[in-house]
Amino acid sequence: MSNANQFRHKGRFAKKSIINWKNNISKSAKKLKEEYKNLGVQLPNRQRIVDLDKLAAEMWCTTCDWPLSFRFLIQEDICGVASVFHLKCPKCKEIRLVKSSASEGKSTRSKYHVNFKLALVVLDGGIEETQLNTILSALNLPPVDHNLIKRYERLVGPATETVTKENCHDALKVEEELKILNEG
Ligand SMILES: [Zn+2]
Repeated sequence: MSNANQFRHKGRFAKKSIINWKNNISKSAKKLKEEYKNLGVQLPNRQRIVDLDKLAAEMWCTTCDWPLSFRFLIQEDICGVASVFHLKCPKCKEIRLVKSSASEGKSTRSKYHVNFKLALVVLDGGIEETQLNTILSALNLPPVDHNLIKRYERLVGPATETVTKENCHDALKVEEELKILNEG
């Protein structure tokens, strides 16, 4: 039995209000797909060193409680082997900054833990910058410039000295020490 409010939709009877609702959802989905088709920038074909725990926690828009995606990447800032991804929230359109590494400090002046570790390799591991960049290049990671290594070395140096004095020289101890120096 059918009545005036029932129409055929994909071979089945359905109320007009439900058909309209389904059509609206379909239109919205198509519109969103079109809107973002040209929005995202192509990710360069390069590896990244990513702190997955941190990334998973940050891939969320706290303004509208919505998941973020690399499909909506607007920009990538590179600092050493760390990245800051600018992702546009598909719901509220705000740009969220997602960092690939834990860091000390705010925004662009952040000091990234992964770069501290890299400076430790140069300072303490006996590897020269050119050798380091050869390894990074072979792994398809961005090369690091001399100034960046020097800047991080200046921060790592005092922490390394403190830990050496305590005769317990290892990377984790140095990292703890770095936190204290950065907070102080
Ligand atoms: Zn949002």
